[in-house]
Amino acid sequence: QKTIDKIAAGEVVERPASVVKELVENAIDARATAITVEIKEGGISFIRITDNGCGITKDQVRLAFLRHATSKIRNVEDLVQIASLGFRGEALSSISAVSQVELITKTPESLTGVRYCIEGGTEKELEEIGAPSGTTFLVHHLFYNTPARAKFLKSATAEGNSVSTVVEQLALSHPEISFKYIQNGQNKLYTSGNGNLKEIVYQIYGRDLTRELIAVEAETPLMKISGFIGNPSVARGNRNFENYFVNGRYVKSKLLARAIEDAYHGFMMQHRYPFTLLYLEIDGEKVDVNVHPSKMELRFSNQEELYHQLCLALQNALLARER
Ligand code: ADP
Ligand code: MG
Repeated sequence: QKTIDKIAAGEVVERPASVVKELVENAIDARATAITVEIKEGGISFIRITDNGCGITKDQVRLAFLRHATSKIRNVEDLVQIASLGFRGEALSSISAVSQVELITKTPESLTGVRYCIEGGTEKELEEIGAPSGTTFLVHHLFYNTPARAKFLKSATAEGNSVSTVVEQLALSHPEISFKYIQNGQNKLYTSGNGNLKEIVYQIYGRDLTRELIAVEAETPLMKISGFIGNPSVARGNRNFENYFVNGRYVKSKLLARAIEDAYHGFMMQHRYPFTLLYLEIDGEKVDVNVHPSKMELRFSNQEELYHQLCLALQNALLARER
C-alpha cells in the first residue's frame, strides 16, 4: 500500500504548488470562507493551510488519508455532476506518503479537536486537543523520503513563484472567499472575500491594468459569461494573462484560448495576447465537459458552437467599448 501511494503521489503531487492546490481545494470543498496559505522555502520545507470550514470528525481522520477515500462521491451518478473540486480521494494519501503531515481539525459540533501526525504514510500520533473550528494542514519536508523526486524540484524561489501563481488563481476563482497568503513571513496577498473582483485584480496585477478593464456580461445558448477583459492597450507578450474559469475551476483549454485570441483579432498586434478574467458557466447537460485527471485541461463535445459563442460575445464587448 505504501509503495502504491508513493507511486500515485507522483501523479497528484509534483511540487509544492500542487500540494497547495489540493489542500486549498479541499478547504473550498469544506465551505471555508477564509483560507490562509503560508509557505517557507518555496513550500519545500513548510506549507501551512488553515481554513474555517466544516472540519473532520475524529472517526473520519484516519479514513481521509486512505487512498480513494473521499466523502464527496457516493455513487456513479455523482460523477456526472461533479460540483466539488476534489473527487478522487487521492490528495491526502499521496501528500502524506511523501512528506510529514500534521493535521489539526475540529468540526463546529464537537467540543474538542483532533491532532493527527502522519509521516511517509506512517501514523505517528492521534490525540484530542483544543482547537478552533476548521482545519489546519502542515506539510513539512516534501519528498524527504523520495530523493529521486526531490531532485526534480527547482530552486526555492522558482517553487515559491509557482505557489504564488496557484494561490492567485484560486483567489481569482473564488472572490467570495477571503484569502491570505504569506511567503517567508511576508504578507503577499490578501483578499477580503467580499466578491469584488477588481479589488483582487488590483492586488495581483496593479493599478494600471485594473484601470483598463472592460466588463463582460453575456448569456449565450450554451453558457453564461461574466468577468473582465483587458483593453487591447494592455496587451501582453505571452498567454499567462489569459485567465478563464469554467464552472468555478481554473482551467486550460486550447479552444477557449483560441476563441479569446480570435476575438481580439484586428484589435491587437500580432504576437500580443490579451488580459482576461472570464467566468464561464457551462451547462453540463448541453456540453460534455471532460476533465483530465490533472483537472486542468478541458475537452468539450460541441466545440464549434462554444468557440463561436464565446468569440462573438467578447467581440461585442470590445466593440461596445469603442462606442
Ligand atoms: P477528495 O478531495 O478527492 O475527496 P482528498 O484526499 O483531497 O480527497 O481528501 C480526503 C477527504 O478528507 C475529503 O473527502 C474530506 O472529507 C476530507 N478533508 C480533506 N481536507 C479537508 C478540509 N480542509 N476540511 C474538511 N475536510 C477535509
Ligand atoms: Mg481533495
